[in-house]
Amino acid sequence: MPVRKFDLNELFSDLLPGKRQNQPAAATDAGATAVAPAPAASTTNADASPSHSGTGTPPSGDSADELGALLLARQVVNEEQLASAQRVIKQTPGKALHESLIESGIDEIAVMQGLADVNGLPFERVDHIKTQAHDQKSLHKLGIEFCRQNTVLPIRREGARLVVGSANPEDVFLLDDIKRRLNVQSIKHVIIAAYDVRGVLEMLTASESDQQANVEDILTDVGDDDVELMKEEKLQDADLEDAESSPVVRFVNLIIQTAVKEGASDIHIEPDEKTLKVRFRIDGVLFEMMNPPRKMHAALTSRVKIMSNLDIAERRLPQDGRIRATVHGRKLDLRVSTVPTPKGEKTVMRILDNRSISVTLDELGFTEESLTVWKDQIAQPHGILLVTGPTGSGKTTTLYASIQQMDLRKLNISTVEDPVEYNLTNITQIQTHDKIGMTFAAALRSLMRQDPDVIMVGEIRDLDTATIAIQAALTGHLVLSTLHTNDAPASVTRLINIGIEPFLVGASLNAVLAQRLVRRICKHCKEERPVNEELAELFKTHKIQAQTMRYGKGCDRCRKTGYAGRSGLYELLVLDDFLRDQIARSPNVTEFRRLCHSRGMVNLREDGFKKVVAGITTLEEVLSVTEAVA
Ligand SMILES: [Zn+2]
Repeated sequence: MPVRKFDLNELFSDLLPGKRQNQPAAATDAGATAVAPAPAASTTNADASPSHSGTGTPPSGDSADELGALLLARQVVNEEQLASAQRVIKQTPGKALHESLIESGIDEIAVMQGLADVNGLPFERVDHIKTQAHDQKSLHKLGIEFCRQNTVLPIRREGARLVVGSANPEDVFLLDDIKRRLNVQSIKHVIIAAYDVRGVLEMLTASESDQQANVEDILTDVGDDDVELMKEEKLQDADLEDAESSPVVRFVNLIIQTAVKEGASDIHIEPDEKTLKVRFRIDGVLFEMMNPPRKMHAALTSRVKIMSNLDIAERRLPQDGRIRATVHGRKLDLRVSTVPTPKGEKTVMRILDNRSISVTLDELGFTEESLTVWKDQIAQPHGILLVTGPTGSGKTTTLYASIQQMDLRKLNISTVEDPVEYNLTNITQIQTHDKIGMTFAAALRSLMRQDPDVIMVGEIRDLDTATIAIQAALTGHLVLSTLHTNDAPASVTRLINIGIEPFLVGASLNAVLAQRLVRRICKHCKEERPVNEELAELFKTHKIQAQTMRYGKGCDRCRKTGYAGRSGLYELLVLDDFLRDQIARSPNVTEFRRLCHSRGMVNLREDGFKKVVAGITTLEEVLSVTEAVA
């Protein structure tokens, strides 16, 4: 499938003030959620009307020094970054230290927080999507252009007082001006990031223009179901030509950009009778993020189809495509799938982000003990290692992280995958292609003639693949693969059920790792609660001693869910001679599970309980993902 490259930064350039292009990647928040780099600091002071000349005044040298020292202490910057930003402001009269730091790619939020603290002002974040996150009436009066030029945002009313956010602590003249324009008695000044101001304004521009006259234009542009082919070709060209001006294009870009910023794994665009929903999957859970007008559905779908090279005229059949995009200098792939439903086509885009596979084994959430054992297992010269669990349990991430741990210079490592979703360096990756006979088994067979050391097979689904994998393992190769089973012991019986001789399973299999993903408690709103009697009872049966448990209260950083990021739960079964013996006798799964447990295997739920006691996740999370294996 041909892939068309879109640079979202480019498409967005007309929307956004400031220098977006060629942004260096900024430091990101710690934690598992991917955060898009903060864009450049406001450069709009120069455009501000003369009456606001005071807004551009940089903080005095003293407060700049103070800010530098504070950011150093908070480890937002290092000495080198600070020194280079200080050089820049010396050479650029009128530029403030925080502006220079943000432009150089330092985390904007952290810098602005520091700036607020140094100036004794509160710092706030503003939700780009929620309309109640700003004072609509005041914003309307001031005008979007005014707010954009001055990087300012009326946030809310507190009695007679208006809370106004700006990116500059010394905005005295500007605040006076706003007081006059809005005729308010007093203003409470808070510091907000220029990034947030732009986000809110972008969102307003996009939705306002979409909801007004333009919707009609878009709909006539896209046409009805029975558009002629000729007309369609024209339309496709036109659409791409004015890519920078169409509100639909901007809105799709905004959806993708927001999803990436929120660390979403999937974007759903779902039509209903009267509504249109845009939902994001974040940490495995769907959140409703936007409600564009229902009328936009056809236009949005068409735009996504054009971006992913799909047939926009075909609305009765499912289609699959791919978009390659650059968001804030980060390259990512989106796998697009559309299906027809009675209410219209539903589109799902999976975000394939290379960052999600650059996770190391140490970051996956193994207990120290399991990690040591697993690292020892992946260092073995031959045998089979299986990772098992349902779809979406993080098996691929574990396999990739395991491979990355190996010595890529000295080993010949190859993979057979369906599909190859991420491109890895120093590793040979083969894509299966069932239609032309390039099955897992066929690919594996050819790989065996390529002098391999380590082979990763995406999945063992059939006897053919299983047989070759076992031959490879028995002839001196390390084979890593996945199976769809609920727990580790069940993999053994699954292989036997596929048709492998029990003694061969016993001889070739080294270890099985079953896993699940649970959401981590948000570290920004973690609190301790006493364990109630019922729980204490449950804990007792599992020999756990804990008087308190931790929960996330819910805060702005975690969309009020109390969770942010995910961790794995692991059940690691390493076969010893005794268990290999048992396998050769083809045991039933219940009996085998009991034997594994008696040999010291920690099961998924037990591993989960450890993580509850350690305050990593909650009991609810552990129970919900381990229900099937209890
Ligand atoms: Zn939180």
